[in-house]
Amino acid sequence: MTVDTNIINGKLFTPEGFLEGGISIERDRIIKVGKEPSLPKASTRIDAKGALILPGLIDIHVHFRDFEQKYKETMITGTRSAIAGGVTTVLDMPNNKPPTNTAQRVKTKKQIIQEKAAANIGFYSLIPENAKEIIPLFKEGIFGFKIYPASPIYPPKDNQKLLALLKSQAEYKIPLIVHPDNGYADRNEKLLLEKNMPVIDAFLRAHNQIDEAQALKDFIELSKTSKNSLHCSHVTAKKTVELIEKNQDNNNLSSEVCVHHLFLTESDLRKMKSKAKCLPPVRTQLDQTALWEALNRQVIKIIATDHAPHSYEEKHCEFEAAASGIHGLETMLPLMFTAAVKGKISFEKLIPALTVNPAQLMAIKNRGELKQGNFADVVVVAKEKGKINAENFESKAKWTPFDGREVLYTPKYVLVNGFLSKEDDYIISKANAGKILEREYDVVLQDKLIDDEE
Ligand SMILES: [Zn+2]
Repeated sequence: MTVDTNIINGKLFTPEGFLEGGISIERDRIIKVGKEPSLPKASTRIDAKGALILPGLIDIHVHFRDFEQKYKETMITGTRSAIAGGVTTVLDMPNNKPPTNTAQRVKTKKQIIQEKAAANIGFYSLIPENAKEIIPLFKEGIFGFKIYPASPIYPPKDNQKLLALLKSQAEYKIPLIVHPDNGYADRNEKLLLEKNMPVIDAFLRAHNQIDEAQALKDFIELSKTSKNSLHCSHVTAKKTVELIEKNQDNNNLSSEVCVHHLFLTESDLRKMKSKAKCLPPVRTQLDQTALWEALNRQVIKIIATDHAPHSYEEKHCEFEAAASGIHGLETMLPLMFTAAVKGKISFEKLIPALTVNPAQLMAIKNRGELKQGNFADVVVVAKEKGKINAENFESKAKWTPFDGREVLYTPKYVLVNGFLSKEDDYIISKANAGKILEREYDVVLQDKLIDDEE
């Protein structure tokens, strides 16, 4: 038999660890993993030439900006940006304008990106204002509810009401994804500025580490009563790491670290100003060291980008007026793999944090591992010296605090559902092999979903 594609002559990362060999792909699936002589003949043969053959990266935290903020990014440009960075699956946050907080809005997003996604894409929702929306949102396959305590788009403000809502959906095990923030930071920042504190000091003081840890602590308490699973977005602080470690036995708690918090500190922020402005902010060296240690000790098991694109004007202006957020999809792989080869983390710990760990948390089935039967989402990562060049980004946001940084690895080939979507620096023009993903439930919960809606 002749299959569609063989990727050969590489160093595969499989659930059993690294092995020399290749994989065979037929349609959208991996049908064989092994040494080359054992693979069937293929119409297309990709020689990995000793490079790493890995599962495509899974990023559970991106902000594409469809609806009214398309000038910043769209699902089309965002998924192409993902492919350019070796990321084959993304989960899109709901703080759009207008916000994604109804089943209808999720449906609309799906209609917009249907057959146009370069990478696989799934969606989150905000907690809906109307509890009757919850079951329809589950039926649309959302992967979690995002909670922004600081934002006006975070209903409901009343914790008792929130608790009742959370309890009503706990058994579906949909993660509550918390941006750990106390909700008063903006007001505090204003007060500090009125007292003439320098702008960057006021920003850092208002969005401080103590409040981050306290906010997470409050949600851990809340979720103990509601029995929800809780995911802490972008951990930045040593104090937050300590809190997560103290709650290691709580199986309902998970967390992620973002790439920019692993590479930038407050002193970079003072130099780069608006370009490095993000929320939560980059922190001290002490905090950053704690984040690397947390990854290495697997206290934090997931790495994400928090890809948050903005327009040129929004990032090249006075600090106070600048938008918070950093492009992440096209820099994550080169930065993280370069850090790994320099000894910051082993490949054996790094790769799962970018692939199988996020897949397991979000119940993304049959992706995140190179094994027979899984979808053929693959990235071939070559050791190749280069420089990050923001001008070449596929994203609409063609700037990054990492512009010009030397990196040692690059995603050379990217396959999505078996379709070769990237080769060297080129995205295949018809790259639209991404699928719309929905959270899947076991049979009992599927039946319950039907009952609950009636
Ligand atoms: Zn975010």
